[in-house]
Amino acid sequence: MCASSHSQVSLQSTSLTSIETSLINDCNDIGLLLHSFPQNRVRNLPATYKYLLYSNHFKPSSSFKFPGRYSDGCNRACQHKYLEENPWFVYSKSEDGIFCLPCVLFATKDNLGQFVCKTFHLWSKKSIKFSAHNSKQCHSIALSRMDALTSSMAHPESSIEVI
Ligand SMILES: [Zn+2]
Repeated sequence: MCASSHSQVSLQSTSLTSIETSLINDCNDIGLLLHSFPQNRVRNLPATYKYLLYSNHFKPSSSFKFPGRYSDGCNRACQHKYLEENPWFVYSKSEDGIFCLPCVLFATKDNLGQFVCKTFHLWSKKSIKFSAHNSKQCHSIALSRMDALTSSMAHPESSIEVI
C-alpha cells in the first residue's frame, strides 16, 4: 500500500467561517450538513474536519426505531442490518435515509448521485442499489482514502507535520 497525498493531514482551516466551523463541530448528520454546505464544499474540507464528520456521525443504537415509509404498496423502513452489512453507510435522521459517508467526503465528479449528494431511502430497491453503489470504482477509492485518513488520525505522529 502506498501512502497517498491524502494521508497528509492539513490543520489549516482554509476559508471556513466561524459559523461553518461550528456547524461542522456540532454536526452528527451529514444529510443536515448538506443543506448548508454544497457537496463540492464538503469534499474540499480539510482532513481534520472530514475526520470530525466521520467520527461524530450519528449511529443508531440497537433500540433505535427507524420511521416507516410507504412505498410499492407497503410500509418499509431502514434496518440496522443495512448499516451493519455496509459499514460505510451512515443513517441521516434528518433525511430518514442513507448516505455513503466516504463517498460524500471524497466524492469525485463521477460519483455525485444517490448516497453522495442525495440520500437513499427507496428501501424496496435496496439490494440492487446497494450492490450497484458498492461495486463502483469511485466507491473503492473513497473507502481507501477514508482508511488513509483514519489511520493518519490514529497515528498522527507519523503523518502530521508539526507547525
Ligand atoms: Zn460509497
